[in-house]
Amino acid sequence: MNFMPKILRGVVSYVFKKPVTKQYPLERVEPAPVFRGKMSFNPDLCVGCGMCARDCPTGAITMEFYPHVKRKMPKFYYGLCIFCHQCVESCAWNAIKPTTQFELATYDKKQLIERVSEQEVKPVKPRRPEKKLFYR
Ligand code: SF4
Ligand code: SF4
Repeated sequence: MNFMPKILRGVVSYVFKKPVTKQYPLERVEPAPVFRGKMSFNPDLCVGCGMCARDCPTGAITMEFYPHVKRKMPKFYYGLCIFCHQCVESCAWNAIKPTTQFELATYDKKQLIERVSEQEVKPVKPRRPEKKLFYR
């Protein structure tokens, strides 16, 4: 029973301390810089090689064909994505970049699909990869 005063002292001290949790979403929470969030895709850098779709472990990326320019581009479905960022690693042309964006909750699953519109797709210009991948 002699431990009761110690416990009570601890409980009372917490009544006067500031809460450690934040009132999200009323109070904005900034994720750590290394947090793996949604990716950003730059269609101007993509050459349509399909390595991102090949290496994605969950099948969240499919390659979509654009007949007017006769080339493929990745289509992302964030409903399947586990944010492992393997696609960022696999893209030797740096067309996929990591971001810390995490607020993706929606009632409409269609909003989780990210694809490039026909107007944004330009004919592919051959160029060298920007980074070397050790497993190729
Ligand atoms: S982050 Fe991972 S799961 Fe999501 S699209 Fe890229 S490779 Fe696929
Ligand atoms: S790996 Fe990069 S260049 Fe290749 S299809 Fe994916 S985004 Fe485009």
